[in-house]
Amino acid sequence: MIEFSIRRSIRKTVGILVHPVRGVIVSAHPNLSLKELRAIVLKRAEWIIRKQNLLKNSATLHPTKRFVEGEQLWYLGKQYPLRITNDKHDKHCKEKHSCHGASEHYCTSSNLLPTITFSGEAFWIFLPPGIRQKEQEESLLRSALVRWYSAQAEALIRQRIEIYRSAVATSHPLIVRVRQQKCCWGSCTAKNALHFNWRLILSPLPIIDYVVVHELCHLKIKNHSRQFWSLVGSIIPDYKERRAWLRQNGRQLDI
Ligand SMILES: [Zn+2]
Repeated sequence: MIEFSIRRSIRKTVGILVHPVRGVIVSAHPNLSLKELRAIVLKRAEWIIRKQNLLKNSATLHPTKRFVEGEQLWYLGKQYPLRITNDKHDKHCKEKHSCHGASEHYCTSSNLLPTITFSGEAFWIFLPPGIRQKEQEESLLRSALVRWYSAQAEALIRQRIEIYRSAVATSHPLIVRVRQQKCCWGSCTAKNALHFNWRLILSPLPIIDYVVVHELCHLKIKNHSRQFWSLVGSIIPDYKERRAWLRQNGRQLDI
């Protein structure tokens, strides 16, 4: 079975797009029924799967960004362009855009590290003077961005835990950590410490919520038994779709 989302628009033909993160998107006229669309997708299944495999392979071969002006970076399931400048951070921060909302705005203070600001429309990177080599710049930018994303992830995940913890009915004192790990989106240790992958912040909020609830449920049930999934399902009824999304798109969630 191929999962797809539907985009309705006035058009004569049916368009199918295999997107690296958003999955299969079918654009179709509002008159076409879901049944008709399913049949069309089924007909193109071979092509879709070939395309998906191609994307998977290319993600494995070229998993990283180049961190150049205009490159698109994911944040909470949306893409935003990268703006790179050598100008002083303060000048841009005040003149070129407004840094609004405390949660959206995070500036690193050291003069030797790139400074990152998210304006709501773009990522602004202010390079420290003296970076000459492109390779050095790339690795500095990557680690600065990972730090920025990790800080955002930790703040948001703590917030989401507070929202969901009463639903799981847990009063455990929680240790929450966001880590730079390649594997696993989240884990719950025997001592009830919850660990989350910083890359979650690249995905849409419903996906983050699924992982948060999944790990919170492990505070009560350590395994993946039927009871565990029914607890998850009682809080997030469509958890299967969210889990499938993560399985399908997780690989692309990286910089
Ligand atoms: Zn689990």
